[in-house]
Amino acid sequence: MRKKLIIELREKGIHDEKILSAFDAVPRHYFLDNVFAEQAYSNIAFQIGSGQTISHPYTVAFQTQLLEVKKGDKILEIGTGSGFQTSILCELGVKVYSIERHKELHLKAKRVIQHLKYNPRLSFGDGFKGLPAFAPFDKVIITCGAPHIPQALVDQLKIGGIMIIPIGEGEEQQMKRIVKISDTEIEKEDYGVFKFVPMLENKVK
Ligand code: SAH
Repeated sequence: MRKKLIIELREKGIHDEKILSAFDAVPRHYFLDNVFAEQAYSNIAFQIGSGQTISHPYTVAFQTQLLEVKKGDKILEIGTGSGFQTSILCELGVKVYSIERHKELHLKAKRVIQHLKYNPRLSFGDGFKGLPAFAPFDKVIITCGAPHIPQALVDQLKIGGIMIIPIGEGEEQQMKRIVKISDTEIEKEDYGVFKFVPMLENKVK
């Protein structure tokens, strides 16, 4: 099933072999409740508890490809959710810092990720604030729909660094790649429409 998913991702335009190998290495069914295990390798999103969803595999692969991940990169992820995207980044040799606003999901992801022997730094808190104590980051990836570009996250990005962020407050968001040109300038590019759960501010629970 995993091999079939990889063929599908390749057909949809994921050409980075390292990313495809990471999808081969990370067992997606570990991140879903047992009832969904058989469908874990279909290209669909699932409920993961607390009203949240694990992103479509294609969305995870697409955002990861836009990030231009290099081994050793220090990457901040907002929205740990199930921890699947976190694990894909770990598999690519990245030092991942990930924030989740739901305590229950944060703890659940921690258990699965520890079981798989990856070693990201998982935080429970509000992603809008980032992690100033660990900044600057080479890259930032946001896996929930943001109402705007959070300034704190731009501040915590290195100059030349990349941020991948779906922007939009309704059902759909525009995927954007932001490159930090200088302390005061960013460049933006659009990469199509996606659907995410909302990025909520000051709603840690
Ligand atoms: N990367 C995840 C996607 C999960 S969905 C995966 O691979 O499964 C997005 C997640 O973002 C949800 O779990 C939601 O609770 C979280 N989220 C929303 N707003 C947030 C915020 N302000 N800070 C941290 N996490 C947030």
